[in-house]
Amino acid sequence: MNVILFGPPAAGKGTQAKLLVQTYGMIQLSTGDMLRAARASGSDLGNKVADIMDRGDLVSDEIVIALIEEQIEARGADQSYIFDGFPRTVAQAEALDALLDRHGSRIDAVIRLEVDEEKVMARIAKRFAEEGRADDNPESFKVRLDRYFADTAPLLPFYEGQGRLHRVDGMKSIEEVAAQINAVLGGLKG
Ligand code: AMP
Repeated sequence: MNVILFGPPAAGKGTQAKLLVQTYGMIQLSTGDMLRAARASGSDLGNKVADIMDRGDLVSDEIVIALIEEQIEARGADQSYIFDGFPRTVAQAEALDALLDRHGSRIDAVIRLEVDEEKVMARIAKRFAEEGRADDNPESFKVRLDRYFADTAPLLPFYEGQGRLHRVDGMKSIEEVAAQINAVLGGLKG
């Protein structure tokens, strides 16, 4: 079973992905984590994306599609994946469908974490103070939100039209959001 966790930056996708890893033994594929690891390793790719990430912009479709492809090719398509922070553009979504299709697999559900943007801004200010993630600074976060609305939100009608979109209330507690996600996944299996 493959799911996409969908939502604006700081909606709680990473937190929920980690819970799915614990509960179901699924594999979390976070392009943000992969890119941060590339930066930490000082690789050419890491150096290439550093400025783009710090200002909150999207790195190219080509780069993130290649990262995901590499993971699926290496681990096989018979695993259960959680896509976290990918796809972020329609081109990425189409590439993901084509990739899975080539391996006889598919996205079973797109789970949209619905959040209140103003409250998310407050959440992110707290994360910035606690963790100091460079792209959580107010200026970059504004760019990330703008990119979400301009490039990523158009994916919603794309998935809704295919009947793959499920909504959960992302403003509830971590446990309650997890329970809603489990209910969606339970419904799929049923
Ligand atoms: P995240 O941790 O998912 O918020 O990603 C951090 C940053 O990595 C984003 O602000 C982008 O600069 C970059 N990034 C991560 N995933 C993608 C993606 N699917 N497409 C383009 N850029 C991405």
